[in-house]
Amino acid sequence: MRRETKLVHYGRPEMPGPANPSVMRASTILHETVESFETTKAKRDVDDSVLSYGRRGTTTAHALMAAVADLEGGEACYLFPTGVAALAGTLSAFVAAGDHLLVVDTVFHATRKLCDGVLRRNGVSVDYFPWDATDLSPWLQPETKAVVVESPGSQTFEAMDLPGLTCWTQARGLTVIADNTYGSSWLYRPLQLGCDVSVVAGTKYLGGHADVMMGAAAAKGEAAAILREAVVTTGQTLAPDEAYATLRGLRTLNLRLERHEQNAFALADWFAARREVAAVLHPGLPSHPGAAVWDRDAEGCNGLFSVIFEKGFPLRSFLDRSELFAIGASWGGFESVALPISPFQGRQSASVYPTGPMVRLHAGLEHCDDLIEDLERSIASIGA
Ligand SMILES: *Cc1c(COP(=O)(O)O)cnc(C)c1O
Repeated sequence: MRRETKLVHYGRPEMPGPANPSVMRASTILHETVESFETTKAKRDVDDSVLSYGRRGTTTAHALMAAVADLEGGEACYLFPTGVAALAGTLSAFVAAGDHLLVVDTVFHATRKLCDGVLRRNGVSVDYFPWDATDLSPWLQPETKAVVVESPGSQTFEAMDLPGLTCWTQARGLTVIADNTYGSSWLYRPLQLGCDVSVVAGTKYLGGHADVMMGAAAAKGEAAAILREAVVTTGQTLAPDEAYATLRGLRTLNLRLERHEQNAFALADWFAARREVAAVLHPGLPSHPGAAVWDRDAEGCNGLFSVIFEKGFPLRSFLDRSELFAIGASWGGFESVALPISPFQGRQSASVYPTGPMVRLHAGLEHCDDLIEDLERSIASIGA
């Protein structure tokens, strides 16, 4: 069955019944007999879909776990209350005191904070490598255990050659953990490209309506068992209402992404043609670093891109005057948002792009002519 059809049918309860799995709120699951209790407990030790106790998720979370595992091509998927919790939970499953972790330099800023803070404090050493490296020998140590990748890179969108990199890591027995929030289980499938765990902040496109916080980690092979053990012993789960809202968002994931992509391309073209603009950073523009790799490995782009303006451009007034682009940190909802950024601060590699005020934009589901007219009005009104 094609993915579009599966999106519509994930988690459908038995008929006669509703089209959606219901929100099952439960801590204790009651049994009539001791035997039933014991049989259930034995079953759930090998099957994540067995209803046993609220901490292991109820049927609502189970439906979402099965859906995301299938979309990502994983054997299992575990849920977390936020995307950062999913990254923290996954990393703590694969590295411990004395281990060495390699992280791509273009990683999401909160992941860097997690690695440099909690992980280092707990005795894990961390090194960063450039996004275009597929041979990590210069950074490899005898203690190296895992590699964290994010493709395309956070805020600057350079696509990594994951098949090339995972060919190198597999020969050395390293676990590769991908942050797949950009691809959001639809555009990009890191597990198929050789990674062991794919983490998605479902807060973004899976939920898709700017009203859910959640994270998911899908895994395959030995990594799935290691992740399961960590999730179960640390008590990670997602509340049933959040699981329900994420599943509801998932039904239209493909349709929303199509429109986000179209709008982002239209806006990127508009920006690229402006004399105030020094560079447009978008993984789907052929001139962007890594664009050929993205075209080879992914099935499209989402609504994100960044713009670097010429030095001295009054970016703040431009953004403040826009009526349709609100200022906000997150993305992946139905609405357009903008955020001034300085992605090169804190990175090891220097910028290869022009220097100037920079903004990360998320193209929402509005009519793109309205978005462009809004930007035209704001840029005209600052008289730059
Ligand atoms: C938003 C985001 C996260 C974190 O997700 P939260 O749900 O906000 O904790 C992690 N990685 C990437 C790439 C993100 O964009």
